[in-house]
Amino acid sequence: MKRKLIVSFSGGETSAFMSQWLWQHKSQEYEMQFVFANTGEEREETLEFIQQCSDYFGFPVTWIECEPESKTKYTIVDFFTASRRGEPFEKVIRKYGIPNIALPHCSRELKEVPITAFSKKIFRKHYSTAIGIRSDEVDRISPYAQKKKLIYPLISGGFHPGVNKVEVNLFWSKMPFRLRLKGYEGNCKWCWKKSLKKLLRIAKDDPAAFNFPLRMEKQFGNYIPPNRVSLLQQKGKSIALPITFFRNHISAEEILLSARSANPIIRDDNRIYTQQTTIPFIDFGDTDFVGGDSCEIFSDCR
Ligand code: SF4
Repeated sequence: MKRKLIVSFSGGETSAFMSQWLWQHKSQEYEMQFVFANTGEEREETLEFIQQCSDYFGFPVTWIECEPESKTKYTIVDFFTASRRGEPFEKVIRKYGIPNIALPHCSRELKEVPITAFSKKIFRKHYSTAIGIRSDEVDRISPYAQKKKLIYPLISGGFHPGVNKVEVNLFWSKMPFRLRLKGYEGNCKWCWKKSLKKLLRIAKDDPAAFNFPLRMEKQFGNYIPPNRVSLLQQKGKSIALPITFFRNHISAEEILLSARSANPIIRDDNRIYTQQTTIPFIDFGDTDFVGGDSCEIFSDCR
């Protein structure tokens, strides 16, 4: 009997590479379910890329969105019906408040919870989950990998050892299509975990990308949900109002204002094709909150 495997497809080129590889090489061994959890704040290019991968390689992807107030915890959508105005994200904010470094619940509520609920519905208990983390991102491996039965096919697990960023880039450079985004533009358009430099670049190029955090900060900046109050009390912490998404208590409005006079240069690591240039370039002004270039479940938020 085949073993059961959930394949978490985040919409980035690394997880797409992993997905097509598993589909082509491990279908005899595993019964697989490919799943993408839409936050509603993904770029349209990401949604198109997921659909293209599914059409081109032939693996079916189930698109889900969180339903924090329902027992099922998720709803099924598709490319055409997927939310594009932050609707799932807003539901999470209504329940848990604005996420930020003090309470980073968005990846958990928008991705981990619905994907886990979906996985249990499909496979009950006996399944593993494949996560698209590369060999140059080993620091992103979950400390709970064994307990949660997470596997990392691009690193180990007997699948495809040691795939790095350059190999992923080379693979996509030979494909008839690829993700039409720069390396720093993926995930939620304005993800609060990106460095300030990246956020300024994004705000400069596409101010509309910040419409959602701008609206949420206006609407929910002074809203502290009851569960957050008790959590803060437990930790003996107070909270500064209004609540904002970004580090150092910066608001979306301030980022948009600063972007007018800024012009940061950001390297597009999706277009690096030689190993030599992947030697880490340490720029202390350009440090993300978390390693890696994608919001993978069980890796970014805890
Ligand atoms: S961590 Fe960033 S990309 Fe992930 S759900 Fe939160 S805002 Fe979106």
